Amino acid sequence: MTSTRFTADANCAARLDADDPVAPFRDEFCFPAGPDGEPEIYLVGNSLGLATTRTRTYVDAELDAWATKGVRGHFQGDHPWTLYHELLTGPMAELVGGRPEEVVVMNSLTVNLHLLLVSFYRPSAHRHKILIEEHAFPSDHFVVESQLRHHGFDPADSMVVVGPRPGAELIEHDDLLAAIDEHGEELAVVLLPGVQYYTGQVFDMSDLVRATHACGARVGFDLAHAVGNIPLELHDWNVDFAAWCTYKYLNSGPGSTGAAFVHENHLGDRELPRFEGWWGTNKERRFEMATTFDPIPTVEAWQLSNAPILSMAPVRASLDLFRAAGGIGVLRNKSEAQLAWFDFLLDNRFAGRVESITPRAMHQRGCQFALRVTTPGIEGRDVFESLEAAGVACDWRYPDVIRVAPVPLYNSFTDIWRFTEILDELV
Ligand SMILES: *Cc1c(COP(=O)(O)O)cnc(C)c1O
Repeated sequence: MTSTRFTADANCAARLDADDPVAPFRDEFCFPAGPDGEPEIYLVGNSLGLATTRTRTYVDAELDAWATKGVRGHFQGDHPWTLYHELLTGPMAELVGGRPEEVVVMNSLTVNLHLLLVSFYRPSAHRHKILIEEHAFPSDHFVVESQLRHHGFDPADSMVVVGPRPGAELIEHDDLLAAIDEHGEELAVVLLPGVQYYTGQVFDMSDLVRATHACGARVGFDLAHAVGNIPLELHDWNVDFAAWCTYKYLNSGPGSTGAAFVHENHLGDRELPRFEGWWGTNKERRFEMATTFDPIPTVEAWQLSNAPILSMAPVRASLDLFRAAGGIGVLRNKSEAQLAWFDFLLDNRFAGRVESITPRAMHQRGCQFALRVTTPGIEGRDVFESLEAAGVACDWRYPDVIRVAPVPLYNSFTDIWRFTEILDELV
């Protein structure tokens, strides 16, 4: 889509919506009401995706199964609970470009990062470093620091941190490659986001895998802001491991169950250490209560506990919706059109007043914009608060960024237009 299709007015937005094959899916979502009682302009799906209208049906089905079957629900009914997580595997694997054996829905994101580092961070006196980005999400930073200390290493020596160049916002891919190369034989693990949570920058995961493997280290990705946002090919890229949450672009509700990926190459590896629990052992023999661990030959071997069904039901509702909408490829097409529309409006209406620090190249961003107010004398924080008061849901990230994320599943081109109309008044 080129910007020559666009004119900066509401009619253009309405025309784009009328041509949008994904538009009907907006009705599948519940929008909170703004101050005037009308649905909010919800642009914060990067933090918590909206509830779907079908979520309640899926949760109710499991509450009913519990009420009518009690403990028998584990083995009886339409979706016996002992197998419930298996319903999520196929559609989740599709979203991340993994094979079904490589993907499991379990635990939550930070927990999964720890469990995966137990397996993939096996430092020696010589090879002990973990590379992360300077502005990593704090949880990821804490995971790495505590893993290093747990193994007796000092983060000051063993944590390699790569940031933007002085005065810059984004990390240069070449700087990551140079750091991987420089620490080469001392590097054990590279742990990076697929999409940076603050700037919205997408990293070149495939090339980072190539470079990391070339120096003999393992590479994992935190896909919190990538899954459901951009197409991923974890298997083909040879990613060693990955973890993500499901409450951002996957709309599965606050604190909902996360997921993990381990590449097929590692699945049969009996040398790989792992923290284990009864849900990772042979399903046929689990209830014999034997104490010999017989690992499931898939990533399910990493499961510890029986599955939280009431939190998985919304994940199932969400994954069904992604499939119904045509999958991530269709959604990404719409997202790129929305990005182009938003770019056009920023360029034409906000020059000198608002800038986006998110990369401009399509392949370097997902659906999020990190906006910064540059109008002299106007504080970004005040603009953010006024946006909220005017019925726009977005978020503020210190020191000076307003994050807005038009989500193709439920945001319209008109949402973007109305957002810019409100912003125009404020800056
Ligand atoms: C959202 C997010 C988290 C949150 O972790 P939880 O374990 O789900 O609380 C962690 N890391 C990144 C990069 C995130 O974007």
